[in-house]
Amino acid sequence: MIRKITIPIIERRTIAKNTIEIVLDASLENFTFLAGQYVKISIPKMLYPDPAGNYRMFSIASSPNEKSKMEIVFRDSQSGFKKTLTELPFGSSVIIQGPYGLFTLPKNPKASIVFIAGGVGIAPCLSMIRFAIEEKLGHEITLLYANNDLKSAAYLDELKEIEQNNSRFFIKCHLGLIDENCVRQSVADINQPIWYAVGPPKMVRTTRDILEQLGVSKNKIRFENF
Ligand SMILES: Cc1cc2nc3c(=O)[nH]c(=O)nc-3n(C[C@H](O)[C@H](O)[C@H](O)COP(=O)(O)OP(=O)(O)OC[C@H]3O[C@@H](n4cnc5c(N)ncnc54)[C@H](O)[C@@H]3O)c2cc1C
Repeated sequence: MIRKITIPIIERRTIAKNTIEIVLDASLENFTFLAGQYVKISIPKMLYPDPAGNYRMFSIASSPNEKSKMEIVFRDSQSGFKKTLTELPFGSSVIIQGPYGLFTLPKNPKASIVFIAGGVGIAPCLSMIRFAIEEKLGHEITLLYANNDLKSAAYLDELKEIEQNNSRFFIKCHLGLIDENCVRQSVADINQPIWYAVGPPKMVRTTRDILEQLGVSKNKIRFENF
């Protein structure tokens, strides 16, 4: 069910190079969503003007099992919206509308998955990874995580820890642009998994083209453009 709720910012952290995580207090709302979905966030009182308006879409990085708080992540930027989100005092309210989206886990727990995440495209993947591990869903999951450099790779310590503790989760960090080689090398049989590509539109387009050129069927490719 799509809802509109007003909730406060309770935490803000720099979690990687130029990368900010905002934590919203959802404890009073019982806001339900599927891992991988996104919300529209509006700021009632902007601190800076923004020609693109007072709202943006954000994937939820936290697990749906985390009922008390909602985490979102973005790269630091000079847009009026993000500058406002970065500076609003704790306790300031934002309006959340959603959840939206079909970029979610496959129903079949036997399906293996490859996430190809570019930068903060990690957010919906992290939500799905956290949920799949917590619920012991059984998917074999490979994360191909692309960043310009390792310092920009948000949540890397947590992801490495998940990998150490779970024999069916694998992470491969890639520095620079996604290319055919890194896609081909991410799994033994490229025709087996369901592929998820998420991040900047150019990166997603390139990834989809590579997968299709390698012969992956279109119905095995899911994508989300940031
Ligand atoms: C389904 C979906 C899910 C998404 N999930 C996420 C998510 O989880 N995390 C995320 O980060 N994004 C996410 N996005 C994208 C997000 O909604 C924004 O569209 C995107 O991050 C771009 O943000 P921005 O417009 O603030 O511009 P940015 O790309 O952050 O900044 C560039 C803009 O800032 C302005 N600007 C730049 N420099 C200046 C300056 N000096 N002075 C004034 N203005 C300046 C310009 O207008 C420019 O267009 C998602 C999008 C979709 C559709």
